[in-house]
Amino acid sequence: MKQKTRGRIVVVGAGIVGASLAYHLSGKGAQVTLIEDGEIASGVTGRSFAWINTTHTGADPIAQLRGMAIEAYRRLETELPDLQIRWTGALSYSESAEYPASATLLSSAEVLAREPNLKNLPPCALFRADEGALDAVQATHALIAGARALGAQLLTQTRVTAIKTCNADVTGVETTAGTFDADLVVLAAGTGTRQLTRMLNASLPIEASPAIFIRYKTQQGLVKGIISSPGMEIRQSADGTLLAAEDYWGETPGNSPRDIARQTAETIRKELHGVVSIAPQTVAVGLRPMPADGLPVVGYLPGVGGVYVCAMHPGVTLAAIVGRLASEELLDHQSSAALESCRPERFFSELR
Ligand SMILES: Cc1cc2nc3c(=O)[nH]c(=O)nc-3n(C[C@H](O)[C@H](O)[C@H](O)COP(=O)(O)OP(=O)(O)OC[C@H]3O[C@@H](n4cnc5c(N)ncnc54)[C@H](O)[C@@H]3O)c2cc1C
Repeated sequence: MKQKTRGRIVVVGAGIVGASLAYHLSGKGAQVTLIEDGEIASGVTGRSFAWINTTHTGADPIAQLRGMAIEAYRRLETELPDLQIRWTGALSYSESAEYPASATLLSSAEVLAREPNLKNLPPCALFRADEGALDAVQATHALIAGARALGAQLLTQTRVTAIKTCNADVTGVETTAGTFDADLVVLAAGTGTRQLTRMLNASLPIEASPAIFIRYKTQQGLVKGIISSPGMEIRQSADGTLLAAEDYWGETPGNSPRDIARQTAETIRKELHGVVSIAPQTVAVGLRPMPADGLPVVGYLPGVGGVYVCAMHPGVTLAAIVGRLASEELLDHQSSAALESCRPERFFSELR
């Protein structure tokens, strides 16, 4: 379907993906209204480990996109001084790891030099000096502040209840705060995206994939960067809070999120020297928007003009680059080859 030039844009969802879209679209002169059911970053973005992780082993249909992710954040940092990213580097290792051919591998001694508190040193580890992490809530606020400075309007506590169309072309959205006319509607609603596409009889298979985010109170300076080992995925924030991400096993006895938080604390004690005390502060389950084939969904929804979808994992890693490329696609009609494997059409076999 040929897409028209569209000036009034509604972005649904104020997580990090919607915030990046609102910022990039506003920067190109669009009249953006960002509509959020809850508060800024109240979805999974508020429960994210938020590692800008561009490493992938095996065949990767989005290698080009992943490869552009860090530079996109570097560029945003120059535009938005409030966007704070800690480029600490990331160490990854496991017994069965297959490292990419181009990877920089560190010896045990080099790993120890990077992370002096590690007790059980691996024979070698992958180190990505260019990777980092951010506070996803703070980053989302910074992006939205940037968008608002460029004229974007933000509505929180406002749910999109219907998408209005006329002759198979979008005309706006119905919300709990009334109707908003729009030439273009961008769905960045995380796990809510499926429900919104269902309203248009073009349901996308995006599942809610739970994972646990834990904040521990402990002393400063335990780890320098991001560590992803067989037992733990951890990093320490600027204020010393130790952050961890863990798999979710349901609410089964011994495996509840609180139990997992306690077990992870024990693992951290076993893996690191010098842990004086470590206590979970918050333990939260976040629902990651996970497309059925694991690849991002970015592009126009088939069958209706002017509805564009941005739903993905890993959404923090990709938010900056997808926001930029999608805004170029939407406003400059500049289609990106890096997004080719992300198109929604792949889920509608009759269109292929
Ligand atoms: C424990 C954990 C660790 C993670 N670690 C990483 C990591 O290290 N690196 C990484 O890249 N990613 C990581 N992720 C995933 C990452 O957090 C998500 O991919 C990303 O936050 C998705 O952002 P989003 O903006 O698409 O979704 P969300 O943050 O969920 O935003 C969508 C918003 O849309 C709103 N919404 C939904 N429906 C409607 C509606 N009808 N009307 C109005 N608003 C609506 C919701 O309220 C929500 O605020 C992790 C996730 C978890 C849980």
